[in-house]
Amino acid sequence: MPALMGQMMQMPLLISSLIRHAARHAADTEIVSKRVEGDMHRTTWGEVELRSRQLAQAFARLGCEAGDRIGTLAWNGYRHVEIYYGSSGSQLVCHTINPRLFPEQIVWIANDAEDKVLCFDLTFLPLVEKIAVQLTTVKHFVLMTDRAHMPASTAIPSLLCYEDLVAAEDGRYTWPTFDENTASSICYTSGTTGNPKGAVYSHRSSVLHAYGAALPDAMDCSASDVVLPVVPMFHVNAWGLPYSAALVGCKLVFPGPHLDGKSVYELFESEKVTFSAGVPTVWLGLLTHMKNNKLKFSTFKRTVIGGSACPPAMMKAFQEEHGVEVIHAWGMTELSPLGTLSKLKAKHKDLPHEAQQRLLEKQGRVIYGIDMAIIDDDGKSLPWDGQAAGNLVVRGSWVIDRYFGKPESPLVTVDGEPGWFPTGDVATIDADGFMQITDRSKDVIKSGGEWISSIDLENIAMAHPAVHEAAAIAAKHPKWDERPLLVVMRKPGQNVTREELLAFFEGRIAKWQIPDDVVFVDEIPHTATGKIQKLKLREQFKNHVLPSA
Ligand code: ADP
Repeated sequence: MPALMGQMMQMPLLISSLIRHAARHAADTEIVSKRVEGDMHRTTWGEVELRSRQLAQAFARLGCEAGDRIGTLAWNGYRHVEIYYGSSGSQLVCHTINPRLFPEQIVWIANDAEDKVLCFDLTFLPLVEKIAVQLTTVKHFVLMTDRAHMPASTAIPSLLCYEDLVAAEDGRYTWPTFDENTASSICYTSGTTGNPKGAVYSHRSSVLHAYGAALPDAMDCSASDVVLPVVPMFHVNAWGLPYSAALVGCKLVFPGPHLDGKSVYELFESEKVTFSAGVPTVWLGLLTHMKNNKLKFSTFKRTVIGGSACPPAMMKAFQEEHGVEVIHAWGMTELSPLGTLSKLKAKHKDLPHEAQQRLLEKQGRVIYGIDMAIIDDDGKSLPWDGQAAGNLVVRGSWVIDRYFGKPESPLVTVDGEPGWFPTGDVATIDADGFMQITDRSKDVIKSGGEWISSIDLENIAMAHPAVHEAAAIAAKHPKWDERPLLVVMRKPGQNVTREELLAFFEGRIAKWQIPDDVVFVDEIPHTATGKIQKLKLREQFKNHVLPSA
């Protein structure tokens, strides 16, 4: 007998359904943007949905067809949201490019994705003027501004004005229905090694991610929130927030290019922001500004911090000095990006504060939709005891199956079962499913056959009041192969010494894991997504002679 089939409506999970929902049920909910042009702009989900339809018509008028890629070089703002929905919703593919990459990387990525249209903010006009001739597939360049801000002359042939394109259309456009497995957007990994690789998300994966991300044990988004994504819309789609925000119909606030501590703080206060998300480095500026000016938040309640390990000292500052809950999250481009977030279970509510903190400092538990395991080098899974560290692998509805344009599968086998994505991270998992990243496999410090977690060392250093930022890297050692070297940027006016810092590690970590040496630098290099550039530091200190060597 054939199985009895469900008799429910077939509603494909399409990105257009998110904005349609927001326009029907949160039409007057605001989207506020600090614009590149310098002013504040206020619109609503209702207007943004209409303009997204006009934009879809404009893309069609430019000759775009299903599957064509629309590249963006843009900050967080309402026009960027319109491009997200106007492109994906009309079966085009939204391709956000990180403008902080080197120009040659941007060219490489846009050409690899074969972008047909490139939309960009005024900030990036000089950059695009420089690289336009090398963008071999781009047919149309669109400056995301109004007529008044268009340049009098430019090297870009027939540069189009975004507002003119939108204004020329009537918006009488019905979002099309199509297969939910159609590509919706592409993001490239920042490519710390080798060329960047594209992750092609589908409508289905993006909508499921938006659902999962909004859950209470994940980002806990609701219509009562005012969300300010500090994480850029070019960094894995701002971790899906423009989608989850439409799904719950909440107010969105965009900082544009104004990401310094003072600007962000003022925007938090003036727009009554309740929730935010970003990588640890962006919060350093905000916390310093607030400390120096003795400021407090009036509405800000919680923030997701991820992308690299959130130092416990930062969590403490947010929680104890400002009453802001920090939700530590782990993810990656290949996961759309959310994998795990750290939220306590009911059984943890009565634990002493310190024990709760130790759980919250971990990268946390998976969202339904993702599964994970830790494995040894032979693909055998390791126990969930919070001790055994292994290669972290994942699978799920919003994990890539392969990279764009690459026929070979990146997937591995776990206990004989195929279909797991190797993350390149090393982690432990405890009996309650709390995952903790100890390192990226290429950042692990291997001392005499034992592994030392660079994250542990950095977290301790960051707890020292004189340290602004710290990175632990492996330095060559004749006997131990590698030993930890701590690279430190001190806070302005602080003169903490090498000896004082090393003494700070005593009693906080096993003696043999204490760094062998400390070097002070004026600045720690960051990648285009705000992570510490370990590769560059390893290169810089490759000839460093440890005192113990
Ligand atoms: P890229 O490596 O190209 O910068 P991603 O932005 O996707 O791409 O980075 C994903 C990686 O970032 C993860 O594999 C992990 O190493 C690191 N990461 C993300 N979140 C955390 C976290 N909370 N703690 C430690 N590492 C993290």
